[in-house]
Amino acid sequence: MVLYTPGRTSGYPEERVESGIRLHFLGGGDEVGNVGCLLEDRTGTRVLIDYGLAPTRPPRYPKECPPIEHTIITHSHIDHIGMAPWLVGQHGATLHGTTLTAAVSEIMWRDTYKVSSIEGYPLPWDKRDLDAALNAWQTHDVGEWFEIGEWKCRFHRAGHIPGAIMIEIKTPELRLLWSGDIDIRDGPNVRGAEPVNCDILCLEATYGGREHPVRATEEARFVSRVKEVVSRGGVVLVPAFASGRCQDILRILHRAAPHLNVHFDGMGTRLTRHWLSHPEHIDEPEHLREVWNWARIVSSKSDRKKALDADVIVTTSGMLDGGPAIWYLNRLRHDSANAILLTGYQAEGSGGHRLLDKGSLRIFGNETAIDLEVTQFQLSNHAGHSDLISFVRACEPRHVVLFHGDDDARSAIAAEFTESPTPSLPLNGDTLNLN
Ligand SMILES: [Zn+2]
Repeated sequence: MVLYTPGRTSGYPEERVESGIRLHFLGGGDEVGNVGCLLEDRTGTRVLIDYGLAPTRPPRYPKECPPIEHTIITHSHIDHIGMAPWLVGQHGATLHGTTLTAAVSEIMWRDTYKVSSIEGYPLPWDKRDLDAALNAWQTHDVGEWFEIGEWKCRFHRAGHIPGAIMIEIKTPELRLLWSGDIDIRDGPNVRGAEPVNCDILCLEATYGGREHPVRATEEARFVSRVKEVVSRGGVVLVPAFASGRCQDILRILHRAAPHLNVHFDGMGTRLTRHWLSHPEHIDEPEHLREVWNWARIVSSKSDRKKALDADVIVTTSGMLDGGPAIWYLNRLRHDSANAILLTGYQAEGSGGHRLLDKGSLRIFGNETAIDLEVTQFQLSNHAGHSDLISFVRACEPRHVVLFHGDDDARSAIAAEFTESPTPSLPLNGDTLNLN
């Protein structure tokens, strides 16, 4: 099923913008991920920010984008870049991003393509679009001004994952800051985002209304579980996202328990190689290199068998929806000394969610009971509620546009601002005109 066909209407307003800026949400308004938002002003300058897909079964796509020349990609997570090959294939768009985002996009797109073939959900783009997208990048350094039409744009570090950026846009009338996915706290691999003064702040609201446990305390709880499982003779399986969480876990373990025998498998290993080639986006890159040399990288079937005798195996997928994690789990499930430590949110419908909920999950097509310790940790790379609120105050905007969050999350943030800034909670397909 191909969802997008040329010539279809997009629902994008046809009239010209009179003043201020127009925002039109194709996706990622009242939902996490699946982001795509068009910005346009009276000069006719038009930019799309992100064009992702939600990797559900079947995947969800943002609404069809009208003709576009310039797209700014905030970071390489698939819910922000998954549909970029379609934009390039269909509209010949240029993709603006950091060098690291551009470098890892190939791995992300090829993996998405592979998974879609395996699961039988054809994508709206094909391999030719993917190859074209790889040549469509125009990269910019963080802090460097560049021009798109009548606008001046500049990237700022977003925290979240290495290479992730916030976008500052100066139109002839106003200054806008688009947060992308942000974390204000310093993480193991990247420093937190810093506020930027602006008139309009578009803010991701994933964790609105929810606070994270103190990161250092949660990391210590994780390490202490790992040590306990190892001391009882078990192997710890840590399913973790390839882009960010795997590398965070390795750094935490290396700092707190360097004596452990830690194996690293899956797509995260290939991503980390790109991280190492772009040290300008990494906090303390020399430590990451040390960690890389310390961890045992799994690169063959025999390495994988050897990893079964490790203390810890860090691998994808983070929500136990496939990848080497399932292969390991199938081997490790027979010894109750072993444990599975989940490192973050497990979406409804994911293997990890099923495991927490029912104590079983599908292994190679068969529902299988898992009689092992399963403990969940919150090592998120998104800002929690209070951090989001202080970030808004420090940016001093007139308007705050809350996106990338469910209604409860967005309302919780909006409720903090009764006078200024004015909050907007756009739905997908909504158009906002702000001055
Ligand atoms: Zn993200």
